[in-house]
Parts: sequence; C-alpha cells; structure tokens
Amino acid sequence: MAELIDGKALAAEIRQAAALRVKSLNERGKTVGLAVIIVGNDPASRVYVNNKKKACAEVGIESFEYALSEDTTQDELLALIEKLNHDDRVDGILCQLPLPKHLNADAVIDSISPDKDVDGFHAVNVGRLSLNKQGMRPCTPAGVMRMLQSKGIEVEGKHCVVIGRSNIVGKPAAVMLINAGATVTVCNSKTKNLSEITRQADILIAAVGRPGFVTADMVKDGAVVIDVGINRDENGKLCGDVDFDTVKEKASYITPVPGGVGPMTIAELIENTVLSAELKA
Ligand code: NAP
Repeated sequence: MAELIDGKALAAEIRQAAALRVKSLNERGKTVGLAVIIVGNDPASRVYVNNKKKACAEVGIESFEYALSEDTTQDELLALIEKLNHDDRVDGILCQLPLPKHLNADAVIDSISPDKDVDGFHAVNVGRLSLNKQGMRPCTPAGVMRMLQSKGIEVEGKHCVVIGRSNIVGKPAAVMLINAGATVTVCNSKTKNLSEITRQADILIAAVGRPGFVTADMVKDGAVVIDVGINRDENGKLCGDVDFDTVKEKASYITPVPGGVGPMTIAELIENTVLSAELKA
C-alpha cells in the first residue's frame, strides 16, 4: 500500500515560509505584489484565479486583478502588460490561460518581462531551465520536484516516465528530471506500447488530462506515481489521471487528487513571486 504525498500539507508549509519572507521584505520597506490578468468568463479560470488571490492574501502578497472582457484585443492586452512590466509594485505578472481564441497566447506570454514571469512560461525562462540556469521555473513541475524531494525520493539514476509533453507540464517536468540526473522517457498520444514503457518507470508522472488513464497494470511494483491530472469523472467529481484505488496498492508513493499537485502549483507561484521581489530588493 502506497504512502501518500500530501500536497496540501506541503503547500501550507511552503506558504508559511513564504509569509516570513514577505514579512522580512515588508520590514525593509518592500511590498510584494502579483498582477493577475483574466480575460473572459471561463468558470474554471475564475476558480483558479480566486484560489491564487486567496493564497496571496494569506502570505501577505498584494494581488492586483485585471478582469478584462472577452472581446479585449491583443493590443489592449499587450498595452496592459507593458504597463505592469514597469510598475514597481508588481513583482509577478500572471495571465490566466487559456485565453480566448482570437488572442495569441505565445505573444502575450513573451510580452511579460522574464523577471516578472512567475509562471515560468516565457521563452527566456524556458531557455534558462533547459540550460539549468537560474530563472523562473514553471510552477506545476516545480511542485512535482518538491513533492519528490519532501519524501527524500532520489531522482538521480532513476528511470522517470512522463506521460504528456505539454509546454506547461510534461516538457518542463522532463527537463527538470534530466537536470536532476534521471533517465527520462517522455510519452505522448502517438507513443506505441505505452504500458510497456510505463511499467519500466521507477517514477511515473501522469499529465494527460484523462480520468483514470493510468491503471494498475501500467505500473511497476514499488513505483512512485505522481498524478498531475485535474479532471471530472462521469459524476462530476474531481479526479486525476491515475486510477487511485488500484494503483495505490502497487505504488510505493502516490499523490492524491485533489490535495496533491494542485495546491503545490499555487505554492510554487507564491514562491516565484517572493523570489522575484527578493531579487528586486
Ligand atoms: P495537454 O496540453 O492537453 O497535454 C496532454 C498531453 O497528454 C499531450 O502531450 C498528449 O499528447 C498526451 N496524451 C493524450 N492522450 C494520450 C495517450 N492516450 N497516451 C499518451 N499520451 C497522451 O494538457 P496539460 O496542460 O499538460 O495538462 C494535463 C493534465 O494536467 C490536465 O488534466 C490538466 O488539467 C492538469 N493540470 C494540472 C495542474 C495542476 O496544478 N495540478 C496544472 C496544469 C495542468 P500529444 O502531445 O501527442 O497530444
């Protein structure tokens, strides 16, 4: 029976430590601020933004929300970001994705100053990660790495299999694991014989977006299983990509959904924002 890696508890610890760092910055006359841009009325985006603002408030970070209408133009959005890039109260800028279809998300991300890119999506930060240099790290894979570290799970020399190759999760997770000395296999929707590959994993990371996709027969005995997925099952209940009840019987460690990688993503966003403020101060 697997041991649970409790992302909710670990995230609370990270926020507590961040609150002390914010307090120390405040004592030196530096406030910490995060600008959050949301375009349109996507209900899931609204939930994510509210959760991020709540976490900011808890640690003493001021959040500035810019809720823009669905028909905002690319030029209007870029002009706002340009203004925030030069606003000293703003240490981090987050533009909640997905954006409405008429907006070019890549151009928007690349208009954010790399030093304020607390999501770690800017090409400069992607390059820094790839070169293993200091920079803003994407929050979800950074949270995954922190969860492994919290249990003393060695990555070096391990075979890590990542299912998913998105720019926000799968790909940066793979790069972080490579940087940490793992042997990494990255799978995608075209991968042949997926289960044969996943059964070789010492550490299996699922970032697919399909409920219950990873079943027990795809997992090696004693593997560490990290479930990044956030989905709804047929009853509308929140669930991950991993069939938790059966996989937990085989794995050595497993992350739950909810209460796993999700809270860690927000904790890493807080961490990046505080780091940005510290570097400025
Ligand atoms: P995405 O952009 O849709 O990427 C999904 C990846 O899964 C793609 O690379 C896709 O391959 C691959 N895939 C799909 N079907 C597959 C199959 N049958 N076999 C192997 N690979 C397959 O999604 P994402 O943004 O990375 O997110 C993945 C999941 O994580 C979602 O549930 C999302 O909600 C969740 N998420 C959670 C957090 C968090 O904080 N916990 C943060 C971000 C995302 P192709 O590239 O070939 O299409």
